[in-house]
Amino acid sequence: MTVSWYRKWRPKTFSDVIGQDYIISNLRHSIEKGRIGHAYLFTGPRGVGKTTTARLLAKSVNCLDGKKQNNFDPCGKCALCKSFESESMVDVIEIDAASNRGIDDVRALRETIAFSPTTGKYKIYIIDEVHMLTKEAFNALLKTLEEPPSHVILILATTEVQKVPETILSRCQRFDFRPITKELLKQHIQKISKDEKIELSDEGAGLIAEYSYGSGRDAISLLQQLSVDEGIIDVEKVKVMLGILTENEIDSILNYAIDGKADEGLKVISDSISSGIDAELLAKMVLRVLSKSIKGNYDSDWSKQTQIDHKISISESWAWALRQMKSHPEPFLVLAAAFLETQTVISNKNGKDNGKIIVQTEQAHVLTPVVLQAEDTINEDKKDDLHTLSAVSWKPNDGEKELWQKLIEAAKPFNHSLSTLLQDSSLLSFTSGNPGTVNIGVNFPFHKNIIMDIKNRRVLEDLLKKITGDTFMLKCSLIASKDESTDQSHDDDLAKAAAEVFTE
Ligand SMILES: [Zn+2]
Repeated sequence: MTVSWYRKWRPKTFSDVIGQDYIISNLRHSIEKGRIGHAYLFTGPRGVGKTTTARLLAKSVNCLDGKKQNNFDPCGKCALCKSFESESMVDVIEIDAASNRGIDDVRALRETIAFSPTTGKYKIYIIDEVHMLTKEAFNALLKTLEEPPSHVILILATTEVQKVPETILSRCQRFDFRPITKELLKQHIQKISKDEKIELSDEGAGLIAEYSYGSGRDAISLLQQLSVDEGIIDVEKVKVMLGILTENEIDSILNYAIDGKADEGLKVISDSISSGIDAELLAKMVLRVLSKSIKGNYDSDWSKQTQIDHKISISESWAWALRQMKSHPEPFLVLAAAFLETQTVISNKNGKDNGKIIVQTEQAHVLTPVVLQAEDTINEDKKDDLHTLSAVSWKPNDGEKELWQKLIEAAKPFNHSLSTLLQDSSLLSFTSGNPGTVNIGVNFPFHKNIIMDIKNRRVLEDLLKKITGDTFMLKCSLIASKDESTDQSHDDDLAKAAAEVFTE
């Protein structure tokens, strides 16, 4: 039977744990000072060492020897360390809350907790994925956390700390485990490949580290899978194994977006998914090149032609897609939505209206044309242009709808994409006063970010002042029915658009 490398290479001492230096030194320190807590909460993404560290803590507090010499690392030689390593240590109880989530499971735990440890000084309970417990089970656990016997250490581990009740959190010492850096992961798998006598190219190691997204477990598993084939593990092999696209392919998607070629761009995405590329991975890859491009170390046509703030808006669309994908039955449609959103951002900023735009503001039934230069971003010069919107053109009797239309029109010359975004939004509420408030309803969190961006907000507030003669404060709310988790109608529209593209 093949031993999983992840198990084989699991850290045996605190010193072996990678990328969690702060937590490890904190734990060593509390062991040294005899200030070991009775309840810990280890949170962080999967594969970063939460359970491993919990086990090491269990091993260290019970180790009979060697602590002082090795900075409180378990010695690995005493009877208790040995029984721990052979997994026959009776005083360490691991519970997977995903499959033992009910009140009876917690009750069973509470019945045994009172008994003294059999061999070691402490009895350690490690409850993995603790957020899976039912409400009743949490309540029962809380009672234990309120008065833990002095010989007991409870270590709760979770990837989703937001699902753990506050009452539980407040009784635990919390440690947040971080994703392991690419460089550390790379070094780690290079060390393992050396010991396992497999050839791994430097670039191959880099790619494995990169696509493990901070998870040591994923990096080691990938390496083990790749080691099955003979020969050196190079970039090509890693790419095939990961089912990833090359950066050229990602570039072609973004270049199609910039050229306004929706059908071609969507076809690349569709073909990639048909050929077995994971949709989530595709979104991550787009984000990766966007991130490189924003940092200034990426060379491609779309990157050169796109301004940094638009790259940020685009990356918000793809990040949104990534989140949506987890609950969406048809990931392609989510990618299509992100692609079309990209195209919207790019085409608007590239200014289909590069010429002069005439904004008509109405005053006392007299049309007063105001000529403004259309540009894609807001700058200080344009703030002066705001003064050219000279006259109050709206009165309360004109109604909210009219105000909204005027705002959309007036915003166009300053920021075309902002105006487009407003068209996709709605005026939720409006109160007069000094200042009054205008609440804009948007469909997506990243739309809210764009509108509430300080520059955009100021322009909109200034425009409102010009249009109405009054001062307004801008608010922006995510429309509940269009909330990410519940509403798919925007997706449906985009899905329709995407479907049309593929209808022969
Ligand atoms: Zn020991």
